[in-house]
This record gives sequence, structure tokens and C-alpha cells, in this order.
Amino acid sequence: MAKNRIETTCVQGAYTAENGGPRQFPIVQSTTFRYETGEAMSKLFDLEASGYFYSRLQNPTCDTVAAKICELEGGTAAMLTSSGQAANFFAIFNIATCGDHVVASSAIYGGTFNLFSVTMRKMGIDFTFVAPDCTAEELEAAFRPNTKALFGETISNPSLKVLDFEKFAAAANRHGVPLIVDNTFATPVNCRPFEHGAHIVTHSTTKYMDGHGSAVGGCIVDSGTFDWMAHKDKYPGLCTPDDSYHGITYAERFGKEGAYITKATAQLMRDFGTTQSPFSAYILNLGLESLHVRMKRHCENALAIAEYLEKHEKIAWVHYPDLPSDSDYPLAQKYLPKGSCGVVSFGVRGGREAAEKFMSALRLASIETHVADARTCCLHPASTTHRQMNDEELAAAGVSPDLVRYSCGIENKEDLIADIEAALAQL
Ligand SMILES: *Cc1c(COP(=O)(O)O)cnc(C)c1O
Repeated sequence: MAKNRIETTCVQGAYTAENGGPRQFPIVQSTTFRYETGEAMSKLFDLEASGYFYSRLQNPTCDTVAAKICELEGGTAAMLTSSGQAANFFAIFNIATCGDHVVASSAIYGGTFNLFSVTMRKMGIDFTFVAPDCTAEELEAAFRPNTKALFGETISNPSLKVLDFEKFAAAANRHGVPLIVDNTFATPVNCRPFEHGAHIVTHSTTKYMDGHGSAVGGCIVDSGTFDWMAHKDKYPGLCTPDDSYHGITYAERFGKEGAYITKATAQLMRDFGTTQSPFSAYILNLGLESLHVRMKRHCENALAIAEYLEKHEKIAWVHYPDLPSDSDYPLAQKYLPKGSCGVVSFGVRGGREAAEKFMSALRLASIETHVADARTCCLHPASTTHRQMNDEELAAAGVSPDLVRYSCGIENKEDLIADIEAALAQL
């Protein structure tokens, strides 16, 4: 059978009902699984047979949804995690440990920046942050002999910078490390990072994938293209025996295609337990079934709003990668030809005070820390998430006092524009 297109995979991927079986896959709300013999069970513990024994490690409902996301991204193996934070933590910690180093784009989600620059540094992993538009030479200079990964976001939250895949993948390949890309904002509907040289993809499924503000979750997908054994000395965790698993060598036993996710499941999920609940996974799948329809609408609404705002005299500036006037337009055209995402950032003339007044006057767009939801929402970082910073510190963080992060939902675009128009009229 021919390979399905992405829209079909969103709806029907990873699960086919058996004859007389449930059309929608069941929520396996069970912590544990029964076996007839102790021997059968010990084979599972030794990773000699595959099967379920405890839902902290693996659960059939979670695995079905992970398999769908794996198919959407074009990978070889995937796992769900309890949140996007857990996904990014595992993605790095699976291959880097105390004494190691990672290079990351500075244009990343604030939560990830904090995880890397504060919490993981406390664990002894050092990070060097590079500007997303740095030169190839500057990127090159950030690498050290102990660098284990390169990290970036396809479209950064909230600064909306588009990743220069070619530049980043070339640097990763030159240094023999995987390129890890957080694809949360683009989703595989708008960009498939593996087609542009990424080796591992992460997601906060809390955003567009769920899309309804219902379930926090994350996912890690492996492309199966990184040759760990070719860099044996750099990745002892994958290429030498794991004493905590009876001397198994993941890269030998599970190959390029399965080693990374098997290790993350068998070791990290076993020890940290940041698993997704089967019920959350079920809800996530309902979101995936309409992801392709929603992404199209999110982008259509966002472009219409960005174009409207760009012409408005009370708006100081607009940043949206699909606008031809935007500095990231060429990268968006190259990597996101179907559209980028539903988030638009802009500045209201009159600075902080005007931005706050404008947002309070909105009727349809609600003020939330959330983004990427079916319902339009917005946030004024200077008075909320970045409230403790003065104007100087805000500038250094790339958040101007007038910045409004506006996440377009899937409502009618004329209604959303009318809402914005009415709010701007009050300024
Ligand atoms: C929200 C977000 C995260 C964190 O995900 P949670 O599900 O909130 O833990 C990571 N990366 C990006 C790009 C995000 O937008």
C-alpha cells in the first residue's frame, strides 16, 4: 500500500481496529499487566522480549499515540512524556551527563532556557547559547570537544525566529553530534525537521497537538539516522554495556533506529517517572485527528491579522514569519511553505501602558499564559511572565515593553479583527 499523506496519518495513523474491535482505540487505564509465568515476565525486564509490565515505563494507549506522532514526523521510534519540559530534559540527558556540553540557540522557550541554563547546569552539563542568526563561524566557535548535542526550535516561542536548518545541521554533522529540534510551534503538518537534517525531534504536545487546552504532555521522536556507534567514545551510555540493565548495549541490541528511545524509556522513564497518563494520551489523540485542519486555519487567521496590524497606525511593529516584510520570511518560505504557526507578536504604540490597556479591552482573545489553542489568547510578557524585569533587562531578553504575544485560534478571522479593532479604538 502506498504511504499515506500527512492528513490521513493525523486521522488514521498507528491504529486499525480489529474485526469487531472498537473503532476508537481504548484507554488502557491499568498500572500493571498480568503474565502466566515468572519467566515471561523476567524476559521483559531484561529487554529480551517486548511487552507491557508497568505503566510508568510503557502503556499501550500512550504507545499508540507515540506511534502516530512518530509516523507524522517520519521517525523510527517515539515516546510520550508528561510534559514538553520532560521531553526536552530527556532528549538532552539521554546523551549528555555531568562534564558534558551542549550548544543551543538562544531563541528558545523561556522554560527550556531556564531548564538548560539553571537546572541542568546544576547537574554539571554546560550550555553555550548562540544567536539564531549567528554566522557559521560563530556557531563553529561554540563547539567544544565535550559537546554532545546541538539544540534549537523550528519556530521559537515567543520570539518567532525560524531555525536555519541548513546551518545548524551542517554544524551538527561536522562535529558528529545530533541536532535536536523542538518542533512544537510548527508541528509536523507545517514542518518535518528530519527532512532538513534534524536527528531528534521534541514536542510540547500541550500546544497545537492537543490544541484544546486540555492535557499537558510531551513527546520525543528519533529519526533513526544518527550513527551512535560511529561516535562510540562520545556516547558511552548508548555504546557500552548498561550495568543497570544486565549489561545491555543499546546501540548494538536496538540499532540506530531504536537505541535512543529504548534507552530513554528503560533508564530515564524508569528512574524519573515523568510518564503521560493514558487518559491524557487519549485526549492528545483527539487533538491529532484534526491537527492538519486546525493548523491551516491557525495560519490563515494569523496571516490575516498580521496583515491587518501591519497597516494600523496604532501598531508600532509586527513580527510574523509569513509576512513578506518580516526578517525571517526567506527562512519561513524555505522550511514552512504551508505556513508557520498561529502566533503573531506585535508592539502597540504607547508602550507598556498602551499594551496593557489594549489587551484588557479585548473581548474574544482572553489573557492567558497558554498559546497554540483553538481559542484565541494573548499575553503581555512585560507585565506577566517577565514582570520582574525592568525595561533594560526586557530588551536584553528580546521582549520589548510593548510586545503583545497574540495566539490566533480557529475562530472566524473577521470576528477576531473586529475584536482587535474595537480594542485599539479605545487607545
Ligand atoms: C510550552 C513549550 C514547552 C514546554 O512544554 P510544557 O508542555 O508546558 O511542559 C517547550 N517548548 C516549547 C516550544 C513550548 O512552547
